[in-house]
Amino acid sequence: MTLPVPFAYPTTRHVRRHGPRGYRDYGDYKPFLRDEFTFRCVYCLERELWYPNREGSFSADHFTPKAIDPNRETDYDNLVYACVRCNSYKQANLISLDPAQVAFSAHFTVAEDGHITGLSEPAKDLIELLDLDHDPALNVRQKILRVLRLKQKYPDDPEMHELFLNYFAFPQELPDLSRRNPPDGNTKPDGVKNSYNEQRQLNTLPETY
Ligand SMILES: [Zn+2]
Repeated sequence: MTLPVPFAYPTTRHVRRHGPRGYRDYGDYKPFLRDEFTFRCVYCLERELWYPNREGSFSADHFTPKAIDPNRETDYDNLVYACVRCNSYKQANLISLDPAQVAFSAHFTVAEDGHITGLSEPAKDLIELLDLDHDPALNVRQKILRVLRLKQKYPDDPEMHELFLNYFAFPQELPDLSRRNPPDGNTKPDGVKNSYNEQRQLNTLPETY
């Protein structure tokens, strides 16, 4: 089997798959954001499954902070999915690397030893702001990469496979977006049809990602 590459940043800019509109509380967009960003933090790539309380450790982050542009507080296209650590470090800072505008792979690279390097000045600034190259973010990457190396070493060991799935499977509970009715509709209904929960219903969801 081909092993996941969990710390490879996207090679294209993020194009929205969902277009829910009209929620007054931005937190109501969270189920869409979970699916939109594949259950991981857009900044550090840590996944829900790596946290003891799963999605409880993630939230909707305002890319352009509320303090800078209050009009975009409930604009879905201004929301990204982030772990609470990155979210709390970012606070009201406006960062110049917008995942909707640039491919993060051109700005960040993670080595085999887990260290992250910024390939541009704004990327270096973001690594510093979010403290991405120190414990705990660094240790998490090192632990995850160790699991992958062990999986490579013992590809057919059932216990190893179970451990591997603990880190790389999709979450047990996937948001059922077909049951959501955003007040002002959804400009991208196809996104719901192709969501991860629908794929699981159709038995087309991969075992890992
Ligand atoms: Zn994060």
